Amino acid sequence: MNLSLPNDREFAWKDGTLWCENVPLKDLAARFGTPLYVYSKQAIVNAFQSYQKPLEPYKHLMCFAVKANSNLSIIRLLGKLGAGFDIVSEGELRRIQAAGCDTSKVIFSGVAKTYHEIEAALDADIKCFNIESPAELDRVIAVAQKKGKKARVSFRVNPDVDAKTHPYISTGLKKNKFGIAYDQAVELYLKASRSPELEVVGIDCHIGSQITDTAPFVDACEKLCTLLDKLRLNGIDLQHIDFGGGLGIQYSNEAVPSPTVLVAALRRVLVKRGYGDKEMIFEAGRSLVGNSGALLMTVQYMKQGELKNFCIVDCGMNDMIRPTLYQAWMQIVPVTPKKEEKETYCYVVGPVCETGDWLGKDRLLNVQEGDLMALLSAGAYGMSMASNYNSRCLPAEVLVDGNRAALIRKRQCAEELFSDEILVTDTQLGSDGLTDQ
Ligand SMILES: *Cc1c(COP(=O)(O)O)cnc(C)c1O
Repeated sequence: MNLSLPNDREFAWKDGTLWCENVPLKDLAARFGTPLYVYSKQAIVNAFQSYQKPLEPYKHLMCFAVKANSNLSIIRLLGKLGAGFDIVSEGELRRIQAAGCDTSKVIFSGVAKTYHEIEAALDADIKCFNIESPAELDRVIAVAQKKGKKARVSFRVNPDVDAKTHPYISTGLKKNKFGIAYDQAVELYLKASRSPELEVVGIDCHIGSQITDTAPFVDACEKLCTLLDKLRLNGIDLQHIDFGGGLGIQYSNEAVPSPTVLVAALRRVLVKRGYGDKEMIFEAGRSLVGNSGALLMTVQYMKQGELKNFCIVDCGMNDMIRPTLYQAWMQIVPVTPKKEEKETYCYVVGPVCETGDWLGKDRLLNVQEGDLMALLSAGAYGMSMASNYNSRCLPAEVLVDGNRAALIRKRQCAEELFSDEILVTDTQLGSDGLTDQ
């Protein structure tokens, strides 16, 4: 049985069972039930400081990409540490406000910002819009004009570099929907700089996610610097360079560069190119919260299929979609491993009626009905991508701090699944003119 743990230093074996900080995971499962997301506060603090430390000597803003884990308590924790936020919807903006965090440190990314979302962000006086298309630029100008407000903008440039990650999380290639074309950037900057409704403050890119090498970041940085050269020649000087997010984490035995190494590599480029004085911005999601979380589940049945053995758990693709969506390998361990070695290869699968509903393939495990298991490094793109498919209730979430644990999201109950639905009668349908008769 593979009991090695990824780089979740706050998750460790003690007395034959797995702990988060100073709390045994089995106690949390007994108290809150499964499936259950458990996060270590210390792991998030450590991850944030791993960026903050190397950035300290420079002008910088370390943003958290809220979509990685949008729980209010996690947002609040990072906000208190000094983080800004990268958002992609009005919903995420409202979360930041609900968590009591500073919207002047918010950066708004995303290809499809609606009029309404742009208005909401202007009202919140956010730090900057990351513009992703010429049409969006026009829309931001129009909304700012209507509101009589100035919008701070940056352009998300598509640097056409290959992040060498899964195709679904590669975002900086010419064929991707993200960002504005590199060759179009200068023209758009000129247009923006002539608009009285705008203040042009920065440049940004985001080339992908789970990137395990500094080279794509360095390539993108060089390309952005070349654009800065061209902009300077056109009399446009920017305040910040935003490198996006994308730094990977360890799920199994990947060697991932630390933020210190990444920052050093980018500093070398910036200094060499004469942009050492620019504010450096990061929009990290996964690398701030990914290693901080575990997803607890209970074995429901062991089933010997004709060709495979299945370990059927109470946690499905609706609770954690990464394995099936990205073919992601995530470590799964029994929370209290048995002493005797009677392992079998099995597929760890969930209750959802889809063949794609799996969490791990060909895992050597010695578990039986009722056993508790943990899927590790589940802090990013886990709960935030969870859905109600198969009318399954969303899991609960717990934040551990030392020997204390607090529920930060209660388990959804069945009534909540359909509380927004409206049960119409035949007559109501008719009176709305929706049925023909
Ligand atoms: C998703 C996203 C991020 C965060 O990516 P990670 O890989 O989680 O660090 C940052 N910026 C933008 C624009 C994104 O869409």
